[in-house]
Amino acid sequence: MDVKNVCQCIMPDEMSRPLIRGRGEGGGSRHLEASMSEAGAPVIGILGTGDFSRSLARRLVASGYQVVVGSRNPKRSAALFPEEAEVTSQMEAASQADLVFVAVFPEHHSTLVDLKPTLAGKILVDVSNGLRINRDGPSNAEQLADLFPESSVVKGFNTISAWTLQMGPRDGSRQILLCSNNSKAKTSVMQLCRRMGFVPVDMGLLSSSLEIENLPLYLFPSWRIPVLCTLSLFIFFYTYNFLRDVLQPYVTAHKSVFYKMPIETVNVTLPSVALVMLALVYLPGVCAAFLQLWSGTKYNRFPNWLDRWLTRRKQLGLCSFLCAVLHAIYSLCLPMRKSARFKLLSSFKQVKEGEDLWIDEEVWRMELYLSVGIMALGLLSLLAVTSLPSVANTINWREFSFIQCTLGNCALSMATLHTLLFGWDRAFDPAQYRFYLPPTFILVLILPLTVLLGRLALCVPCVARRLRQIRRGWEKSRHIRFTLPDDDCRNGLEDVSNV
Ligand code: NAP
Repeated sequence: MDVKNVCQCIMPDEMSRPLIRGRGEGGGSRHLEASMSEAGAPVIGILGTGDFSRSLARRLVASGYQVVVGSRNPKRSAALFPEEAEVTSQMEAASQADLVFVAVFPEHHSTLVDLKPTLAGKILVDVSNGLRINRDGPSNAEQLADLFPESSVVKGFNTISAWTLQMGPRDGSRQILLCSNNSKAKTSVMQLCRRMGFVPVDMGLLSSSLEIENLPLYLFPSWRIPVLCTLSLFIFFYTYNFLRDVLQPYVTAHKSVFYKMPIETVNVTLPSVALVMLALVYLPGVCAAFLQLWSGTKYNRFPNWLDRWLTRRKQLGLCSFLCAVLHAIYSLCLPMRKSARFKLLSSFKQVKEGEDLWIDEEVWRMELYLSVGIMALGLLSLLAVTSLPSVANTINWREFSFIQCTLGNCALSMATLHTLLFGWDRAFDPAQYRFYLPPTFILVLILPLTVLLGRLALCVPCVARRLRQIRRGWEKSRHIRFTLPDDDCRNGLEDVSNV
């Protein structure tokens, strides 16, 4: 009976049963558990008795398979496996099994060559991972296939941990990426995955195994630059604000305001980073549009830096969102500080009798500043939520681009307006240029205003029309200028044709 048939004849509710207990634990369960293995079920072999092998054996037994484990020293390892799994020599396991998992580190694959004749015609599943990212190949699976040319090698299961295997698919990644040059072998392993409660993902031929092996080794590859960018901007703006707001009063008037460092300085730094990061989300789109207008085609490749920048927009946006949320929380906490209460009390004491504290302009500025800031944060939250794959999958492309592009530009405009309202007329006040440094909001506004002006320029009807044409496939270079042979004659025709 093949794996497929076994999968069909086992009832799905059996998956809800608990995992198998180890040898010697709860002897009473043995009969119950043994009944799950169907008579004549394919025997699944596992070579190696390490962490991965143990978790895999438990999962396979719980899924109703007969399991035979091959070890160099079966006596030593047997106690670590469930009773239902047979632990024997590598040769014995290889000869009994129909499908064999190679749960041995790839450096030791060559020690299994004696099993070559026994494993001929069988399916070998390579679960191995490398030590470091391998960009040049060959992959471990390809090397295993060279070592066992008469077996069908399937790459898979390396992207899930032993822990996930043990806990089952309820509490970990459900996807198992598989590839093989033998489609029958791959189909059998896919059936096995489904029976174990996982979701197999067909990654094609064994040449994809290098990519599958590299996957668990990446460390947030798409987040490195956005996070570095956020940190660099934070350090820059924090230092800048520290120089202006903390060091300058100390140096010039011996006024110690170092207490501002943990909250106030951080709270003016966070929105600066958030706005610049948000501008960095929309700047590459504007650059790409101008490049297309300049080259008159959409078929020229963008420079590599722009390509990479365009693919990191989601991460840049989420970093911006994080800073904006932190800014909102910090701002809400500002009145709770002792220093704020002292300041409020002392300002009351300084008020002269009959003096009117209500300044219309100040009041309006603050109302507008807060309202626009809340709107910007709301729009940013919407952008962040729709960037989640589970949400993005429920909307179509037009809806997605409306939210990310149109509402995204609205969020950028709102956040820019929020900063302009914060700055108000202070850009024209010479007292604000401490240490000859302009107020932070002036630096912050440079990039968002550039992006918004660029966007406005792209909205000019003739520019927008040309851009639309280019994006529909129109090309300037294919706009050939041709002349008829008697060009020198005055009646020679000249035409421009879009071919
Ligand atoms: P492990 O705990 O070190 O087990 C490796 C097993 O290989 C040993 O227990 C040993 O069993 C067997 N083996 C056979 N020939 C060997 C030899 N010549 N030298 C040393 N050991 C030999 O490793 P593991 O964590 O189970 O990982 C096994 C494979 O699964 C690796 O390729 C790993 O990349 C892959 N993997 C592991 C995980 C995980 O979470 N652990 C996740 C994904 C993939 P015997 O002594 O009984 O023969």
